[in-house]
Amino acid sequence: MKLTVFRYGTTEITERMAIEGGDESIKLPISLLFFLIETKEKKILVDAGCDAMPGFELFEFQKPVEVLETYGIDRGEITDVIITHAHNDHMDAIRYYPQANIHLHKNDLKSGERYLSDGTKLILLDDCGTITHGVEFRHVGGHTAGSGIVLIKLCDKALALCGDECYTRKNLILKIPTGSSCCPEKSRAFVEEYSKDCYLPILFHDPDLIEHLGYKTLMEL
Ligand SMILES: [Zn+2]
Repeated sequence: MKLTVFRYGTTEITERMAIEGGDESIKLPISLLFFLIETKEKKILVDAGCDAMPGFELFEFQKPVEVLETYGIDRGEITDVIITHAHNDHMDAIRYYPQANIHLHKNDLKSGERYLSDGTKLILLDDCGTITHGVEFRHVGGHTAGSGIVLIKLCDKALALCGDECYTRKNLILKIPTGSSCCPEKSRAFVEEYSKDCYLPILFHDPDLIEHLGYKTLMEL
């Protein structure tokens, strides 16, 4: 199994968005990221990214599907796309993968519907589901009603691809939930659970995970 991160742009959000109780006047740089999990049988994207982000100024931007193709695989090879939640910057670009199974939690179907077309091969997720051997979706419901994370099981730990359940390392270190939550109780429970040692959290807007436009392999087993 191989896990690769792709960076296709950067933008800024307020500290208040990132951290509960944060300052509205402080801007934090964030990266726009998506991930590829490769197994023998599947090429699974975790989120698809976006071609535009209304309301946000984008820097160092390239369309996510173009960044994926610099890695050397064709968009037609993608077998599955897991959507962590139905926000524009995570779901907008699924139109480039009409052949893929699109996995979306049922509680985000209403808000995500506008990104789907008649031919979309939609697989609605429930609270917990195996996508393929060693790769599991877990519903959280903090950031949006249907938001979730993807766990990749290693020997004694699990990589947790956190979507937007958590924006910064500070959220986990201080156990303060994100300021962008539809259910603060669930967001609080999330930072409590996923700050435990048995998880290796990966954040979808982490500016430090990859320092440049393009891709970086995070793990290969
Ligand atoms: Zn996001």
